[in-house]
Amino acid sequence: MNPNPTRHRLLAASFVVLSMCSTGSVLARSGGGAATVDGARIIAADSEPQNWLAHGRTYGEQRYSPLTRINEGNVEKLGLAWSYATGTTRGLQASPIVVDGTMYTTGVWSVVWALDAKTGKELWKYDPEVPRAWGRYACCDAVNRGVAVWKGVVYFATLDGRLVALDAKTGKKRWEVNTIDRSKPYTITGAPRVVKGKVLVGNGGGEYGVRGYFSAYDAESGKLAWRFYTVPGNPKDGFEHPELERAAKTWSGEWWVGGGGGTVWDSMAYDPELDTLYVGTGNGSPWARNVRSPGGGDNLYLSSILALDPDTGRLKWHYQTTPADNWDYTATQHIILAELPIGGKTRKVLMQAPKNGFFYVLDRETGELLSADKYIPATWASHVDLKTGRPVETPDADYSKETKLIIPAAFGGHNWHPMAFNPKTGLVYIPAMQPMGIYPPSEEFKKTGQYTRRDMFWNPGIDWNTYTDTIYSLLAQLGGELPKDRGYLKAWDPVQKKTVWEIEHPAFWNGGLLTTAGNLLFQGTGDGRFVAYAADSGKTLWAVPTMIGIIAPPVTYEVDGEQYVAVMAGYGGAGGVTGGDARTMISARYLNDGHVLAFKLGGTAAMPRIAGKNASIPEPPKSAATAAQVENGKYKYGSTCMVCHGALVVSGGVVPDLRMLPAEKHALFKEIVYDGVIHGAGMPRLGDLLTEQDVRDIQAYVISRANEDRAAAAAARN
Ligand code: CA
Repeated sequence: MNPNPTRHRLLAASFVVLSMCSTGSVLARSGGGAATVDGARIIAADSEPQNWLAHGRTYGEQRYSPLTRINEGNVEKLGLAWSYATGTTRGLQASPIVVDGTMYTTGVWSVVWALDAKTGKELWKYDPEVPRAWGRYACCDAVNRGVAVWKGVVYFATLDGRLVALDAKTGKKRWEVNTIDRSKPYTITGAPRVVKGKVLVGNGGGEYGVRGYFSAYDAESGKLAWRFYTVPGNPKDGFEHPELERAAKTWSGEWWVGGGGGTVWDSMAYDPELDTLYVGTGNGSPWARNVRSPGGGDNLYLSSILALDPDTGRLKWHYQTTPADNWDYTATQHIILAELPIGGKTRKVLMQAPKNGFFYVLDRETGELLSADKYIPATWASHVDLKTGRPVETPDADYSKETKLIIPAAFGGHNWHPMAFNPKTGLVYIPAMQPMGIYPPSEEFKKTGQYTRRDMFWNPGIDWNTYTDTIYSLLAQLGGELPKDRGYLKAWDPVQKKTVWEIEHPAFWNGGLLTTAGNLLFQGTGDGRFVAYAADSGKTLWAVPTMIGIIAPPVTYEVDGEQYVAVMAGYGGAGGVTGGDARTMISARYLNDGHVLAFKLGGTAAMPRIAGKNASIPEPPKSAATAAQVENGKYKYGSTCMVCHGALVVSGGVVPDLRMLPAEKHALFKEIVYDGVIHGAGMPRLGDLLTEQDVRDIQAYVISRANEDRAAAAAARN
């Protein structure tokens, strides 16, 4: 996280015939088609392009649809077919699954919906009743990225660590299992995948001192089949599986005390021919490697791509994108499997653009690195040495002694927002970012060689006072503006290893991608638009203002011979709650009123009307706090509040901007923060982390920030 405040469509005729013969509308009202989804059907997904059966449509997760009814020649006739109001105001990240006319999707607090994909009518809704207080363990909003459907069952995971199986027809629960140690701050936001009758699920918590792993559960019974820990525990306790013995040799000190990290919070893909499962792993916990593993080492299997046997969970090979991760450079980003012409041969490849700014192409049979090239101007490493497969770090990368400014920030050059690969253009489309990160070393570790903070809360092992002070000094140096966090849509040629075209967006944090055989590429944006581009040239062909920021990836499907493009609209996630420039985020000006939006040719439904927000800061109460108390408030805000409410108390508008706090909330500040009286609304009790005086000091700091920005706004008017 960098809470930076200022900122050919020839389609085989058979497909068409198939889709026209689709029994979608008959099954739409019963959810019956889901009963037959299995591995054979997902593997043969191209024979039923009217459906979107799996997370990335296919096991290879290309997010490419063979549908062509909507194409570059008619896309300007797209209009809204229907919208569904989710009744939420936080981030919506799910990629819906569509089976024979029924859409299954998820939203805030892990709620699941089944909708008629033709009309948007709700068929059922399932609320797993996630305790809202669990939200304090979620670094990056109370989001969920979707379901898996298999043999009449809908699988999803909850923010508080449960894997749940629902009857696809009725939404009634079949079983539920707890996948975590509930005394630890694990969260699940990722979509499960189902491979060979096993439901695969990971978790998050890499900023909270946990140990990463992922698990396979029997789809029928919910029984645990196997579990793979991505980092070793204390060797004295023995190793759960042989891969960990090798991994432990790459760690030092008492890493297990801080959990180690390596959480598997998003990407997976499967190659049925090679019978290999691919999984991306997360950052180190804490981030600072000198704190985490003081004697050095690569810290396997952090920030790695793992290839496994899906029956046993045994490792076939691994590739570590960021050895000894120091910057929250996860490799949990989208994994795409494809066949590419490289060196005169067709290679079976795996592609990933992890946070660290390099685009990787690997041979997915052997794990051999074929190429690794910068897709953004990353400053932490000069290049990746193809002989050793290792990045060559620059002096900027080491912040163990002094604060460093590094591109990319922990938001990454690319985060979870799915990419897409179009086999016709040969291009990979990346929702890329260029955020600047501030990395200050832990003052305690610098002085004593120790790091004692172990409070199971947001804790990357860096110094928050220096962090905030660095922002202030940059603002002073640069005349009140921080360097802009840039956001792009990039078309990357993975064979030529270069950007072919790019479009810069107003906001840095934008939506995931969908590409189709109609030479189309769809993306929603953080400034509240939904856009269709020509997949080959990047030319804008159609756009509609949504008035809701979009981060989720679109999907496409057909019902009764009509093609739809659907996307969930609702801003949030890490960059939505804390990052970027609030001026470019529509969530700061309009209510972030969550919707599923479905478009079709000639659609005439009215777009949702989204209410505006008051953008001026009200006069805060008077404060008698001393400068020292405000300073303590600034530090405690940085270590406790900033991850959700934003640096310098400027939020992206998804969670409340505390500068805008009304008098009645100020009057209850201690009751809200210390006692947790509104935990049901998602604001957790923090009385176990803060003293009452800390809470008063945080309030004084919030008031001082509101006054500063009111004065700045008044000065700008004069
Ligand atoms: Ca992380």
